Amino acid sequence: MTHIDATHRADLRTWVPGADGHADYPVQNLPLCAFSTGDGVPRGGTVIGDYVLDHAALAASGLLDAEETELVTIAAAASLNGYCALPVAKRRRLRATLSTVLSGSEPVGAERLLVERKDAQFHLPAEVGDYTDFFAGIHHARNAGRMFRPDNPLLPNYKHVPIAYHGRASSVLPSGAPVVRPAGQRAAHGATVPDFGPSTRLDFELELAIWIGGGNAPGETIPIERAGEEVVGFGLLNDWSARDIQAWETQPLGPFLGKNFLTTVSPFLVTAEALAPFRTAQHPRDAEDPEPLPYLQNAQDQASGAFDIQLEVLIATAAMREGGLAAHLLTRASTLDLYWTPAQMLAHHASNGCPLRPGDLFGTGTVSSPAPDGHGSLLEMTKGGREPVMLPNGEVRTFLEPGDEIILRGRCIRPGFATISLGEASGIVTA
Ligand code: CA
Repeated sequence: MTHIDATHRADLRTWVPGADGHADYPVQNLPLCAFSTGDGVPRGGTVIGDYVLDHAALAASGLLDAEETELVTIAAAASLNGYCALPVAKRRRLRATLSTVLSGSEPVGAERLLVERKDAQFHLPAEVGDYTDFFAGIHHARNAGRMFRPDNPLLPNYKHVPIAYHGRASSVLPSGAPVVRPAGQRAAHGATVPDFGPSTRLDFELELAIWIGGGNAPGETIPIERAGEEVVGFGLLNDWSARDIQAWETQPLGPFLGKNFLTTVSPFLVTAEALAPFRTAQHPRDAEDPEPLPYLQNAQDQASGAFDIQLEVLIATAAMREGGLAAHLLTRASTLDLYWTPAQMLAHHASNGCPLRPGDLFGTGTVSSPAPDGHGSLLEMTKGGREPVMLPNGEVRTFLEPGDEIILRGRCIRPGFATISLGEASGIVTA
């Protein structure tokens, strides 16, 4: 499953100005995106350094053979759903093509292939047909569960079944979308009568976004052996959460209006191929943990189906921005702390015959690490709002206030390989 090739070589260089050694998007990364300029329609591109390689311009450049032109044309569409539908061999071929074009000698007319990133608007990389949010961050599950069941934070099913709920695709928006504080039914802890008003417990959730590939027909399943290939890419996902609305309404069903007012996703699809060097073994289960059922077990997936991505959450309040202060690091976490691999989540989702489609989106669930600075939500950080967080300028937060900006970042680092970034998912609370 780990497929490391010439596109990952640390000594690969590019003719794109300033992109060699770029902290986020060197030629080894090549994240795909849907972008537009001016009032133009969205089209597909590849992010390289401070530029976007315009796939439509590349397809028309005469630099490619027929098969390459066909693949780049698919990836030039207004959304990457067609790309997501490609089999893994064609996705690798496209990556090799993009890498060759960008790392070879500078082509004649190269300037026509590039758009400056600052001149581009970025859209969701794919049109999301369906969005499912898992609950695979075991430290988050334990921290959240402890608030309700101090002696028994994880319910008995947790280590058997990848828990998830169906979210709402219409509220998945790209980074930068304003965070409009939702109103809803709120009830103080233990109260049995609600009122209606703006959420006073607005929170973020640090999650990994997983973009899904070819999928399955209704009634068909995706076996775990094949599930890894159906995971086409990754990003960052903020599952904004209104804790007061959520606490009242999720009795006894799952998340609803406390979650579906907005989910922010980073705009760049970092391909599974780009992340090949950062694959690793799934964290071993504790000795007393149950074995997963056979349909979730695969030796290769356990050996290389986890991803080593370092995640961060930063906050910039309105006062911090006005004072010229840098965003403050709230949290560091790692995707190594997910209890299930992406392939296990996908195989489980399709195990009942539920059809998945190209461009579907999963969230992993909130990723928290066991460290004191590793909480992926304010709910955990403030112990349910009881212990405010002190910011460097003296402000305190229990939950989010008007003007607060939350920024999620993700980065992959491994000696011998170029560091690559997942980019950013950010949003400012408007009121
Ligand atoms: Ca979530």
